[in-house]
Amino acid sequence: MLLKPVIRRKSAGSHCPNLQHTEVKAADTMESTRRRTQHSTNGKGSEAVEKSAQWGRAWEVDWFSLIGVVSLLCFAPFIVFYFVMACDQYKCSISQPLLELYQGKATLPSIWARAPSFTWTAAKIYAVWVSFQVFLYICIPDVAHKFIPGYVGGVQDGARTPAGLINKYEINGLQCWIITHALWLANAKYLHWVSPTIIFDNWIPLMWCANILGYAVSTFAFLKAYLFPTNAEDCKFTGNIFYNYMMGIEFNPRIGKWFDFKLFFNGRPGIVAWTLINLSYMAKQQELYGQVTNSMILVNVLQGIYVLDFLWNEAWYLKTIDICHDHFGWYLGWGDCVWLPYLYTLQGLYLVYHPVQLSDTHALAVLLLGLIGYYIFRSTNHQKDLFRRTEGACSIWGRRPTHIECSYLSADGRSHRSKLLTSGFWGVARHFNYTGDLMGSLAYCAACGFSHILPYFYIVYMTILLVHRCVRDEHRCSSKYGKDWKRYTDAVRYRLIPGVF
Ligand code: NDP
Repeated sequence: MLLKPVIRRKSAGSHCPNLQHTEVKAADTMESTRRRTQHSTNGKGSEAVEKSAQWGRAWEVDWFSLIGVVSLLCFAPFIVFYFVMACDQYKCSISQPLLELYQGKATLPSIWARAPSFTWTAAKIYAVWVSFQVFLYICIPDVAHKFIPGYVGGVQDGARTPAGLINKYEINGLQCWIITHALWLANAKYLHWVSPTIIFDNWIPLMWCANILGYAVSTFAFLKAYLFPTNAEDCKFTGNIFYNYMMGIEFNPRIGKWFDFKLFFNGRPGIVAWTLINLSYMAKQQELYGQVTNSMILVNVLQGIYVLDFLWNEAWYLKTIDICHDHFGWYLGWGDCVWLPYLYTLQGLYLVYHPVQLSDTHALAVLLLGLIGYYIFRSTNHQKDLFRRTEGACSIWGRRPTHIECSYLSADGRSHRSKLLTSGFWGVARHFNYTGDLMGSLAYCAACGFSHILPYFYIVYMTILLVHRCVRDEHRCSSKYGKDWKRYTDAVRYRLIPGVF
């Protein structure tokens, strides 16, 4: 779900399930076609298969990419620090610190020295939080799917990895979220073990702890890939140490049978924390001003819907680009520990310092934008899922869906067929799910009024993230489907906004 550097593709090789278009040059991939016995990491047994490991070097790290990677490694932690510090010391003004630096009223060391530092209290809170999430992730088998109609949980298959494995995942995110939040509410109402504002009160010290975990887990994943990879055939070395560290080497690093780094870090410390952080901001507003503003409620509700959607659809999430194509490195490890909880929650933080009470019209407009965005996001994702699951034998917008028949070749030379949907939202634009996501993101920002630009960082970031993601996904699809992809892009002309882009 996170920031990626701009990278240039060397080959047109598909990076997904043994798929490779004929136009891909053999030299671009470390193809080592061989008969091997494939051992599943989930202990499901083994099967002999003839496959080509074509997961190898599909990316070339040029100087431009390298500068992007090194800059992100060096500056991303400071970007996070800057935003949070600006709220803490400058009431969320992002220009004021720069102005003071320019006028000589402050220096970098003086700003740094004024920011709260690491504390052992924060370290204990963070350790309890992460340990609790690890405990829930590993030890609580999903029972929610037995009781909640329509919810898919329990043990689910992931997408086929480039080396041909299908990992098993225990989907219990919704249940972990419910247990965590039930405990939180019980504490706030009856138990009073800790203050409901505990997260806000320790926000910057907690950031140091999150950074320690983010760097530790990324470094561990990096070393693990060399020393004891979970599945050596799914590792990808680019030859550049910074790139390897940032973008990851291992595809699905695991400890034991079930502790999957990607699913845990993507889904738990960040996503589950997201709504708790917002609740802590809400509690702080109540404590400081004796009331909670409608803008804070809107941010909590809209972002809460997004988080719950993610957890409700965790099984679907296994088939998205994050899990299906990305390797686990710093951008996921550090990004999920630091970037996501700190920058995705900027709106709530801002509203603690600026308790905006919106007019009814403004609040209604934000709510509508958020809900329409969410509806588009969810329906678009659902339409593709339904279409692919039923192989087109379904109804979309009351009609049998139209599609483009496609073919592609797998690395073993076999031809396969697939379908690209051209009905419903997939006929409006090629990534209308991103458009809905962006509308929702804009709604969170607009809930904060128009006095400061800090809360709008999120929509700027999401636009860069999703446009870049769209371009890289289309590059991959074009390599995979060749002229069939061209037929699809001729039929559905625009990527995100019909008539514009
Ligand atoms: P998509 O769910 O859009 O999946 C793209 C894939 O779908 C393509 O690679 C292709 O795969 C297939 N596909 C493309 N066009 C069609 C079509 N017309 N019919 C059928 N299949 C098609 O992408 P993501 O995984 O990136 O996104 C999932 C959701 O997650 C999105 O809604 C996005 O907004 C959200 N997201 C949120 C983020 C955040 O930080 N908040 C970050 C990233 C994503 P194939 O090879 O199978 O053909």
